[in-house]
Amino acid sequence: MAMLGMTRSTGLRALMVGGLLTVLMVAVAPAAVLQNMLIISIDALHPEALRVGDLPTLQRAMRQGVYTMAGQSTDPPLTLISHAAMFTGVSPNAGGKQDNRWLPGEPTVGRPTIFNRAKSGGYRTGYFYSKQKLGYLVNDAVDAHQWSKDNAIDLAEAFMAAPGRHFVFLHVSGLDQVGPENGWLSTEYLEELFYIDDALSPLIAKIEKQKHFLIVITSDHAGHGRIHGSRHPEDYRLPLVIYSDVKTFDDYQDMAYTVTDLQKILDAVW
Ligand SMILES: [Zn+2]
Repeated sequence: MAMLGMTRSTGLRALMVGGLLTVLMVAVAPAAVLQNMLIISIDALHPEALRVGDLPTLQRAMRQGVYTMAGQSTDPPLTLISHAAMFTGVSPNAGGKQDNRWLPGEPTVGRPTIFNRAKSGGYRTGYFYSKQKLGYLVNDAVDAHQWSKDNAIDLAEAFMAAPGRHFVFLHVSGLDQVGPENGWLSTEYLEELFYIDDALSPLIAKIEKQKHFLIVITSDHAGHGRIHGSRHPEDYRLPLVIYSDVKTFDDYQDMAYTVTDLQKILDAVW
């Protein structure tokens, strides 16, 4: 109502000042800087398990963020090949990693990875993984890295507890063993996922508490029956869940996604 008492020129001036202030605020307001970025790859996670399992942590992440159940792995859909494509944005067909093996002492990844981008963005970078061959993806942009079959989650938690901005890739094993032994989406498989969900809960709670976070939960491939890595369509499937307290990702709900897109998604949020 105050505008009614103004002359036309003062009203105009107020509008101009208001507009200028808005421009200034946009110019000087710091972009919401993500303090902690955590990418969790749950090896061999079939997207349907996220629907049918009893998974308080993962399903809460899905409710709070966006997700797609229609993610696609590399061809062939195998652990190291898929993770290499995630890290580099390059599929095996386009010249990325083509074989699923690596041993310590052999050459490591030759292309820039998501860690190079994180490092140049000022993050402390950590890579904790539970399969030795994923050591192929360690490069000089990784500040801390460790292969640990059973302890990768604890290592990530300890690394992220230190002050500063962190970018962490955490690879969690378990389903990749239960799947071949008992079958994908079997009772034992869902029990293992329940255990993983529970083990991730304290780490995720801590990151949420620190604010300004981005959490991505995904996988490298799925399987069917007791088989994976074949040309069966189920073997290529994987989920992608994204949530953050500072950014929304509405466009990503149910989007088409392949593992080589991870870089592009991160490029949009750095
Ligand atoms: Zn795998």
